[in-house]
Amino acid sequence: MSELFPGFGRVEPLMRAALAHRPRGLFTDIDGTISSIAPTPEAATLLPGIAEVLDQAVTTFDLVVAVSGRSAQDAARMVGNAHLLYIGNHGLETYEPASGADTIYPEALPFIAPLQHALERVGAELQPHWPGLRLEPKGATASIHVRNTSDPAAAEEEVYRVTQDIAAPLGLRVTRGRMVVELRPPVEVDKGVAVAAVIRERGLRSAFYLGDDRTDLDAFRALRHLTAEGACQGVAVAVAHDEAPAELTTEADVVLPNIAQVPGFLRWFVAQSVP
Ligand SMILES: [Mg+2]
Repeated sequence: MSELFPGFGRVEPLMRAALAHRPRGLFTDIDGTISSIAPTPEAATLLPGIAEVLDQAVTTFDLVVAVSGRSAQDAARMVGNAHLLYIGNHGLETYEPASGADTIYPEALPFIAPLQHALERVGAELQPHWPGLRLEPKGATASIHVRNTSDPAAAEEEVYRVTQDIAAPLGLRVTRGRMVVELRPPVEVDKGVAVAAVIRERGLRSAFYLGDDRTDLDAFRALRHLTAEGACQGVAVAVAHDEAPAELTTEADVVLPNIAQVPGFLRWFVAQSVP
């Protein structure tokens, strides 16, 4: 088959070899990976063709998982497929529509109220100076979006600094993503920890992870770790873009040059997975 993207010929054998191991799991980030980044999280929709390829993937993979910084319920609403497992809040929450089970990591529960309080203080301090700054409470975490401010880079720096000042005395963590600053509980759970836990619980022998952002690097590293110890054959697929951290492409096994390649890549890949 012709090259789907530069370097495809080199990674195709790797993908095929990993697919041979069962049970196999397909993990994907949502925003920036299977949906274009939108001005607001509510405005984001799946790329054309993604819903159909996920419908097929749930029949050929033993597990399909959407992994997101969104709340798990919001991730499920957005993707709209009841047969997936949803890992939300960067790993702190899982939701399985098929069973209705929605689980928040227990250690995070005591921090939900302080986190809400911190978010309100960040808004009170910064929203008057940065019109367009958007606060998104998500239960176990919260996001502060700078994309719609007049100077997102400057806004992000200030939001990051002020949020850290407010969060530190409350024992909360602060992280950064694509034009977003995140408030999190001080719990050592990230996308990598959550993905590794699911791989072990389900006994997956191969796992594929698609992601576009700094927070996805934790999942890439978890896959590499599991692969090195022989637990599971992992393949990390980076979706490159102008705002991507350099490690995203250097730590991936497969690099898609941009998000426009994702539907075609997944269509090809899921077609190879037919039993
Ligand atoms: Mg993303």
